[in-house]
Amino acid sequence: MNFNLSKLPLLSTKRLEALNSMGIFTFMDLLYTFPNRYIDRSNIQFIKNLSGSGEEVTISGKIIKSEEVGFGKKKRLEVSLSDGTGIIKGIWFRGGNYIKRSLQPGSIVAFFGQVKQYGHSMNIAHPDISSISNEGDLNDFSRLIPIYPANKEFSKTRITSSLIQQWITLILKEVKTEEFIPHYILNELKLPELKLALTWIHNPNSHQEYKRAIDRFKFEELFLFELSIAKIKYSISKSNKGHVLTHFKPNTSIFFNEKLPFQLTDGQKSALSEIKHDLKSGLQMNRLIQGDVGSGKTIVAIGAMLMAIDNGFQAAFAAPTEILAEQHYHTLTHYLNDLNISVGLIIGGQKTNLRSQVLESIEKGTYDMIVGTHAIFQENVKFQNLGLAVIDEQHRFGVKQRANLLSKGNHPHLMVMSATPIPRSLAMTLYADLDISVIKGLPLGRKPIETIIKRDTQREEVFQFVNKNLYEGGQVYIIYPLVEESEVLDLKDATAGYEKIKQRFPDYTVGIIHGRMNTDEKEKTMRAFNDNKIQILVSTTVIEVGVDIPNASIMIIEHAERFGLSQLHQLRGRIGRGNRQSFCFLIPDVKVSKAGAYRLKTMVETNDGFRIAEADLKLRGPGDFLGTKQSGLPDFKTADIVEDQLILQQAKMYASKLMSIDLELLDIKHSKLRNIFLPYFEHKKEFYGLG
Ligand code: ADP
Ligand code: MG
Repeated sequence: MNFNLSKLPLLSTKRLEALNSMGIFTFMDLLYTFPNRYIDRSNIQFIKNLSGSGEEVTISGKIIKSEEVGFGKKKRLEVSLSDGTGIIKGIWFRGGNYIKRSLQPGSIVAFFGQVKQYGHSMNIAHPDISSISNEGDLNDFSRLIPIYPANKEFSKTRITSSLIQQWITLILKEVKTEEFIPHYILNELKLPELKLALTWIHNPNSHQEYKRAIDRFKFEELFLFELSIAKIKYSISKSNKGHVLTHFKPNTSIFFNEKLPFQLTDGQKSALSEIKHDLKSGLQMNRLIQGDVGSGKTIVAIGAMLMAIDNGFQAAFAAPTEILAEQHYHTLTHYLNDLNISVGLIIGGQKTNLRSQVLESIEKGTYDMIVGTHAIFQENVKFQNLGLAVIDEQHRFGVKQRANLLSKGNHPHLMVMSATPIPRSLAMTLYADLDISVIKGLPLGRKPIETIIKRDTQREEVFQFVNKNLYEGGQVYIIYPLVEESEVLDLKDATAGYEKIKQRFPDYTVGIIHGRMNTDEKEKTMRAFNDNKIQILVSTTVIEVGVDIPNASIMIIEHAERFGLSQLHQLRGRIGRGNRQSFCFLIPDVKVSKAGAYRLKTMVETNDGFRIAEADLKLRGPGDFLGTKQSGLPDFKTADIVEDQLILQQAKMYASKLMSIDLELLDIKHSKLRNIFLPYFEHKKEFYGLG
């Protein structure tokens, strides 16, 4: 079906280039270029029912008068049309001569446009017109008129919507389109087959035709996507036997029974028991642990890693920032110090000597646990026998990196953790290859953080509050935004802020931390803050994820309106981790956009990460929210993965049914689908590391 476009009439080289610039190279590409809106001429009305308040309508009737009125600049053509219920005037300020000739009194015509009332008269300025000699003509006129997406090249070469429509009509007449969705599915769902759907989407006679067509294309997109997900799921569960872990002694039990200073929450317990079940099952674990900020995911990760170690394996723990990797490293050495476990750390910027020693210890198996940043994914990192890989804050990593870490062992178990609680249906689509555990609830005794918006002029009031808290032994974060594009500029904000804070709080030690500092400096500063040698930490967003310093209970966020919702929630999640009542002060600029104000308001209203994620998802759309590239979610053209839940469910059901009976699509009923699906799947495969 990939005939090239050059056969189209009225196609100059320039126009061909213009089409190419929009990604249109074949007939199929053109057929799949859908209108982005329609002019609706289907709303046929009687004149007596018009309100004249700008409604867009179609009127048909007889011309009773046509006259030029006014002088000079006010000169215009007025054509009166009667439909038996009233009279309406079509008005032309330009091009009247031509219209006058074509709209003779007595002729039957249709007008389409916006109706406005002037005095006693109903008018439409420059209506779309068509002469009507029988009922069929009116039907042709009163349609949805497609308007196609266009770019500069299109307007330069005068590729108009009506030209595109002409081409498409021709192609649909001349070219055979092949249905590839199995007929039994289309029949069961009452979806139109391809040719009809294409006809309807480009030239609908009614809203209903449009709706049925668009539903088919949404289904088509989601079906292909769900097929690939189902296929990945089958491929993984079929091929990947996992190490059977049966020992949960000595380390695991000592840790939980003797080392842990608190009771596990029910959420932590159930996540751990699901993990244990996976590890015993004989299949490779592929589990996502979702839990709001502060729900205690790290403990769950430590537990799982100890299980691997008790069975003679190594465990890896990846974190997205150096600060977080260092913190995990210290947490682990703290909890595990007198157990017979050796923990290694691998991060960027380690000196050559140290690095090669670390690499050797990983490869020789001297280290049982290895904590690291992205450095852990590097090719030269080789494990002796990796049994479990844990990825913290997994939304900061790509699916590819996940696959990469897995390839460093012989089917090691995988656990990824995330504080981004996305709606369940979405999670199941997106992480179709993962099982999901949700850690519900926070540890006992946490007091909900109070979030307060303060104006620039109220800063002193906030500072006095801070002073009191410091006096009582508390610690404080002050956050400045850091946008990557203008790192230097924003850094100025943070450093200037730091100087001011130092002056304002001379009795306390103020520290600063940002992305431009080297590893050692960062590490030193975080240690000092953790040990309460620093009381006020001025920081950019480098502390956004994971940082856990329970004694810090106040956070001030400057320019709060510049942060995204999920980011604000993550940042705020750095406090509220201890027994002290925590306070988060948001100090926006004087000028705040509507969306910015909504974000701040949401933060004040709720501490619930799930609600915040939903609001954020609505605000930004799934692509932005999830980071399409990283998440593996395609850029859907017609489907909206949040809005089109019903179609998504249907697509998912048919896709997994189909894959369960015909994984390779070898059945003759699926041969056309196979032709379309295989190239589509190629990308996916690589993405999930199955390539
Ligand atoms: P997150 O889920 O955000 O990664 P962390 O694992 O950093 O949360 O845990 C947050 C804090 O809560 C840590 O200081 C941790 O020691 C503490 N914590 C974890 N589990 C419990 C529990 N069951 N009871 C009390 N405190 C806990
Ligand atoms: Mg964490």
